[in-house]
Amino acid sequence: VVYLGRGTNLTKTTCGFCGVGCHVIVESKANTIVNIVGDDNGPNEGHLCVKGRFAWEFVNSKDRITKPLLRENLKEDFREVSIDEALDFIAKKFIQIKEKYSKYALAALASSRCTNEEVFLVQKLVRCAFENNNIDNCARVCHMPTGFALGSAFGTGAGTADIESLKKADCIMIVGSNTTHAHPVVGSLIKQLAIAGKKIIVIDPRAIDLASQPHIQSLYLQIKPGTNVALLNAIAYTIVKEKLYDKNFIENRCDLESFKLWLDFISSDENSPRNVSKITGVEEKLIIKAAIEFATSNKATIVYGLGVTEHTYGSSGVFCLTNLAMLCGFIGKEGCGVSPLRGQNNVQGASDMGAFPTVFTFYRHISDEKTRKQFENVWQKTLDTNVGLTIPQMFQAAIDGKINGMYIVGEDVFQTDPNTYHIQKALSSLELLVVQELFLSPTTQFAHVVLPGSSYLEKNGTFINWERRISKLNKAIEPLCGIDEYKIITKLSKKLGYPMDYNTEEEIFKEIALLSPQLSTLNYKKLKEYGSLLWPVDNNNEKGTRILHQDEFLNKKGKFFITSYIPNKIPDDSYPYILTTGRNLFHYNSSNQTRRTQNTLFFGADYLEINTTDASKLNVSDNDLVEVKSENARITLKAKVTDKIKPGVLFTTFHFPQPKTNALLSQNTDWATDTPEYKFSLVNIKKINKD
Ligand code: SF4
Repeated sequence: VVYLGRGTNLTKTTCGFCGVGCHVIVESKANTIVNIVGDDNGPNEGHLCVKGRFAWEFVNSKDRITKPLLRENLKEDFREVSIDEALDFIAKKFIQIKEKYSKYALAALASSRCTNEEVFLVQKLVRCAFENNNIDNCARVCHMPTGFALGSAFGTGAGTADIESLKKADCIMIVGSNTTHAHPVVGSLIKQLAIAGKKIIVIDPRAIDLASQPHIQSLYLQIKPGTNVALLNAIAYTIVKEKLYDKNFIENRCDLESFKLWLDFISSDENSPRNVSKITGVEEKLIIKAAIEFATSNKATIVYGLGVTEHTYGSSGVFCLTNLAMLCGFIGKEGCGVSPLRGQNNVQGASDMGAFPTVFTFYRHISDEKTRKQFENVWQKTLDTNVGLTIPQMFQAAIDGKINGMYIVGEDVFQTDPNTYHIQKALSSLELLVVQELFLSPTTQFAHVVLPGSSYLEKNGTFINWERRISKLNKAIEPLCGIDEYKIITKLSKKLGYPMDYNTEEEIFKEIALLSPQLSTLNYKKLKEYGSLLWPVDNNNEKGTRILHQDEFLNKKGKFFITSYIPNKIPDDSYPYILTTGRNLFHYNSSNQTRRTQNTLFFGADYLEINTTDASKLNVSDNDLVEVKSENARITLKAKVTDKIKPGVLFTTFHFPQPKTNALLSQNTDWATDTPEYKFSLVNIKKINKD
């Protein structure tokens, strides 16, 4: 670690960008960040990527919102007001909406960018002050199929092993994850492991770094977008046919009834590599080779990303992975497991904290009498038993006049949610929209009140990363707006008639631990002592749990699920290309933070990747402007000609507010969880001119 010596204060905390959750040391001076370096003692062993290491100038940017902004209607300009005036206005309006319509006319979104403590408070405010369950968070639009499928198969919706376990695997299967860009520190580790000789199998429509760099010997299966389930079924079919599965593990650890049903399904000829090769575009012999390499490894692990979950069959895709891991007995052991690479820093935590319309903390359903009574006792409030709305349902309800007031904490839904013009219609329909944010964003143009948010460097609290690792967040500087973000939530709750009194973030965490069996013996003191711990942390696991499901699954027996492949829409003359989207190393989601840093010098605009053959047919060269048109919208992007994708496939990033990439997307969502289908859209393209 190299300190620049620019700061007078050093603070150990956790990176607030992606779900890797690297530990950092921050140098600050006069309430200004001056440098960030990796913490050698953290799980990242001092490594950081270009976001965590350099993208901190946004914190002290002149664009920061440091005072609440208010306007009576959207035609007016915002005026700066005091926090009390803003909260009085919001509370009065929310109460009026409740009286005029019903308590179900209000909804809130917490964010995976927030701390666990803040997310916990937002869902408590909804359940106790709004008095409904209309609470959701952006895990809905990314990894919800993970929570659902891992929870159904293994008993809990979380990754099964830690980064140390990943290092011990002989074979790593990477599915739908551009790891070196989206989760760079894990991506670099996998790259090093590959160089050291570990087997790497990559399944992705795009030749990502881990599939295409000459010094990495990976087995690469370049699928057509939308065919994960077919391919993973064919891998399982081959393992069964070649009798490479772990009979012992299945007999002792799995639900045999579900296995028998699944075995019947998977053995059908429709799942054979010969048949699936035609669907996926992957050669039959490659499918067979991948299956044999995976199944014959001593220890194999699966890591995956949004390329699995953000499909209409996202939950089926995750079930394919849980089936594969159990089939080969690669679960509950060092070097094995199923690991979802969570997108934002605290997707796992926001989900664990119960910011969902159906569950309390740690996925306990609101209809469960015993759990509900426990919350009612601690919160001194009778809780509503009606399941609330998911994010897509909330927006449709707003358009239908059934949701009239919304509180959005730390999400830029207008830019990041699919089908932008549908979101615009929803947000414009609200009588009161309150957005808590760092900067004015595409979403705040529809807001009546903007409350000032704080960056991760201005907060105390905790985050939970992709491994289930709970890490401490410590303030490097005081909040620029002069008030802790959690206090804005508690003040609002009080004005809505439900006081929440906490003096510190630690007091909130105590309540979380009290109401969450998986954290029952965890506290800030322990986190300080150990640096970080993986849940469950309870009487049986005082030092946390690195590897889940070691002796039995949390639901006792692991369950197999049938994963039928359902073909997506087929390209036609009107829309002959499949567009898929993804992230770039230099930016974080909507780039609201990173585009206010020098990272923009390296990546300053979204672009469209187009295959060399298609480009030549359309006479498109690098940097030509290309119009991309779907059934919902048309946008313009600069072209980048490449062989990283196959003919007929296009790829773009979505980091910048213009050209509204997500406007192209449809309303299609995952069959089980409502997660949008970001990874598959049918489009047409045409060259506009040479720039
Ligand atoms: Fe931050 Fe993720 Fe980069 Fe680590 S890999 S420094 S957590 S953005």
